[in-house]
Amino acid sequence: MRVGVLALQGAVAEHIRSLENCGAEGVAIKRTEQLDEIDGLIIPGGESTTIGKLMRAYGFIEAIRSFSEKKKPIFGTCAGLIVMAERLSGGEPPHLQLMNVTVARNAFGRQRESFEIDLQMKGWNRPVRAVFIRAPLIESAGDGVDVLAEYRGGIVAVRQGHLLGASFHPELTDDTSMHEYFLEMIRQYSA
Ligand code: GLN
Repeated sequence: MRVGVLALQGAVAEHIRSLENCGAEGVAIKRTEQLDEIDGLIIPGGESTTIGKLMRAYGFIEAIRSFSEKKKPIFGTCAGLIVMAERLSGGEPPHLQLMNVTVARNAFGRQRESFEIDLQMKGWNRPVRAVFIRAPLIESAGDGVDVLAEYRGGIVAVRQGHLLGASFHPELTDDTSMHEYFLEMIRQYSA
């Protein structure tokens, strides 16, 4: 299985390492044509405004939307989740508008800029190690969206069919269970 990691800005190498630890091939995606060669795409964390600008500059908005229309799985982590959201709170302009969620950026405040927890995912038999760095919160999830995890009453992981989003960074720990879950989604959608 070949999985792309959008390599415009952010935690690209870490996602590739996690994919390889799961036995998949991870490919840094720098040009839109490369999307034809992969089975799924990860949009990493970083800075969503920068990633959005670079996506526009290099034609990735249309290219990733058509990738999604083919039901190829996409996983956005942290800033990656922000750029996948249909709505951003505070009236900020959205980017890819793929997932039926409203996302608030930097939602944990200065006191808790970054922290690491064991996060219980709904229906999973053990928690996931999750690193939050200036993380967003999913303020509301609309029709078709399943909430996979909450933390202190806020939504931090969601799935909408072939789309997966997490507020946190699963690639900054040795716990590969989120990547394994995403690879399983790719298997389902390519069957
Ligand atoms: N705070 C960043 C943003 O708003 C996201 C941080 C991250 O990806 N770790 O884009």
